[in-house]
Amino acid sequence: MIRFEDLLEKVRTYSPDADVELLRRAYVFSAFEHKGQVRHSGEPYLIHPLAVADFLADMKLDAVAVAAGLLHDVVEDTLTTIERIRELFGPEVAHVVEGVTKIGAIPFSSSEERQAENFRKMLLAMVDDIRVILVKLADRLHNMRTLNHMPEDKRIAVAQETRDIYAPIANRLGMSKVKNELEELSFRYLEPQPYEMLRGRVDARRRATEGLIEQLKANVATKLGEASVPVIEIDGRIKRLWSIHQKLKKQRIDLDQVYDFIALRIITSSVKDCYAALGIIHQTWSPVPGRIKDFIAMPRPNGYQSLHTSVVSEHGMPFEVQIRTMEMHRMAEEGVAAHWKYKEGRVGGQKDERYFQWMRQLLEYQQEVRDPQEFIQHLKVDLYPEEVYTFTPKGQVKAFPRGATPIDFAYSIHTDVGHQCMGARVNGKMVPLRAHLKNGDIVEIITQSGHKPSRDWLNFVVTAHARYEIKHLIRLQERTRAIDVGRKVFEKELRRYDLENPKGIVDSDAFAKAMADAGAKTPEDLFAQMGYGTLSPRQLLSKLAPPEGLREKAPENAVTSAVRRAFGGGEEKIKVRGSDDVLVFRARCCNPIRGEKIVGYITRGKGVSVHSATCPNVVNLMYDPERRIEVEWDKSVGGAGAASYVVKLTMEVEDRKGVLAAVSAKIADINTNIKNMEARTDDGDQRARIDVTVEISDVKHLDKVIKSLRGVNGVLDVSRAAR
Ligand code: MN
Repeated sequence: MIRFEDLLEKVRTYSPDADVELLRRAYVFSAFEHKGQVRHSGEPYLIHPLAVADFLADMKLDAVAVAAGLLHDVVEDTLTTIERIRELFGPEVAHVVEGVTKIGAIPFSSSEERQAENFRKMLLAMVDDIRVILVKLADRLHNMRTLNHMPEDKRIAVAQETRDIYAPIANRLGMSKVKNELEELSFRYLEPQPYEMLRGRVDARRRATEGLIEQLKANVATKLGEASVPVIEIDGRIKRLWSIHQKLKKQRIDLDQVYDFIALRIITSSVKDCYAALGIIHQTWSPVPGRIKDFIAMPRPNGYQSLHTSVVSEHGMPFEVQIRTMEMHRMAEEGVAAHWKYKEGRVGGQKDERYFQWMRQLLEYQQEVRDPQEFIQHLKVDLYPEEVYTFTPKGQVKAFPRGATPIDFAYSIHTDVGHQCMGARVNGKMVPLRAHLKNGDIVEIITQSGHKPSRDWLNFVVTAHARYEIKHLIRLQERTRAIDVGRKVFEKELRRYDLENPKGIVDSDAFAKAMADAGAKTPEDLFAQMGYGTLSPRQLLSKLAPPEGLREKAPENAVTSAVRRAFGGGEEKIKVRGSDDVLVFRARCCNPIRGEKIVGYITRGKGVSVHSATCPNVVNLMYDPERRIEVEWDKSVGGAGAASYVVKLTMEVEDRKGVLAAVSAKIADINTNIKNMEARTDDGDQRARIDVTVEISDVKHLDKVIKSLRGVNGVLDVSRAAR
């Protein structure tokens, strides 16, 4: 058991001015509150907060963090309130304890939806004060170390949560020492049989290789000494079981075939010495091709820096060598904690920014995405990255998750570069924007000012950042369009009842009330709702003026028909199931006409677009089934006086005199208006083509016209033109 006096001594060695009184009071309070409580091991509960505090002292954290470690379970496990902690130990300690208590109460084994929300809560606590997550990780580490005392179901739940959540977070914060131990312990409790089997086999090999490791270390020291490369430390070890296990599974190989079963670590005092040492290693042993990795020039996204290589010893034994400076080593082991120590309050400095930027971006992104599954998906990409390293033309390194595209690259340079990305050259060659970037690619982004991202990009970008920016911009554009459409339909409705002066109406109390009813903060919000089709102008108008006072103006004027034309015409003749007066327009691609089988698709900002059921675009559009909506032709309209549809027909005819005249006579014969007619002859061929544009009232009318034309002498074929 750790003695409190030893803990105090440890803190004093790295922080002579630490508030010893605070620590002593925290210890006494914690001991008193937890008195009589025992852990599953049967030991007094106090062992746990002491171990957590001791671990925080190992990370050289400040007195507030260590005190919070001593007190971290007091609120959760005793009757003490957070207010009491605040009174006794001040706002900072209370804040950290509260954060840890809150994270502890978050269930992570829940559905994806809850999980996304829970992740957000944890990220918020981390951004707020990084000490919260450091105490939580220390807590989890001690619980994992003592997990064997827990009942089995609890053991598995805790280990799973550790593997899924806490180990990846430790990794993202660059704390590889903590991450490694958490992973190793999770492996042991989640897969006990493979774990024990692998441990047995590795132990057997360990005995055989221990002498070899010592020999290699001595050998490296001699070689580096001869070349006058100063070295601080050489360390040799057998790789962790979890990483060997993963390698075996991933590469489907046997333990005997594992490369770098042994790893040597060389700590130097400068970057220059790192590269010098690498040269000596490669002169002494043959490097394995493709295994040299320069994480000094290209740090991992979590800040990790080191040179890696694999070489083959004179005994034919491959092993890995990692070379880094002392500073890089500290960073690799402790990550964010290495930066944080000695500093009071918030984390500062450029290197720390990296971690916080990541958390902030995730938070922003989480607010933007509605689909929790998508958020979890991207969190996974972020937490378990398999990186690809690429370069700007100027040689700057950009690291991405695997599967990243030139669009991801463009957004990593600047949001505007992303938005205006038109094309990309990879290693000098043009590539599609959806191409996957590979290690070492030199990527040049081609931009054009005014260019806008396409919704399609969302189907292949992999970084949360790019996705967020694309969605954000598209949403903005759609909103602008929706406001515009909404305003127009509202003004149209006003004119219909001869209520001019929309400005005065917008300023009225009734309008303010209508806004509040619809949950709109600004008039633009309200117009946008109409533009999106969720609020009808009629609904709004009924709130602004008593229905009995409204008198419809004489039908039709220039403005109304102009508006109708803007929407493709015919919006009153299609009904949308379940909604009244939604903005509906016929899709331009297939131009469906009355009586045809139709399907509706909710566009962003333009209302409902109606396609012919046979339109090839329908298949593409329906990838989003939630936006599909049932529509039907309004039966109460139609017949005499109904608006007509303009349809273009294409005919293949014999190239001889009289055919054109016969065709137009036939059309006139069945009471159909011709809007336009063109004829062309194909050279050499005995055929001609006639394009005729006619006004059609419904699909029956169209069938009749086509049938009649097919009966005209000299007409070989009639078909409806796409447009
Ligand atoms: Mn605890």
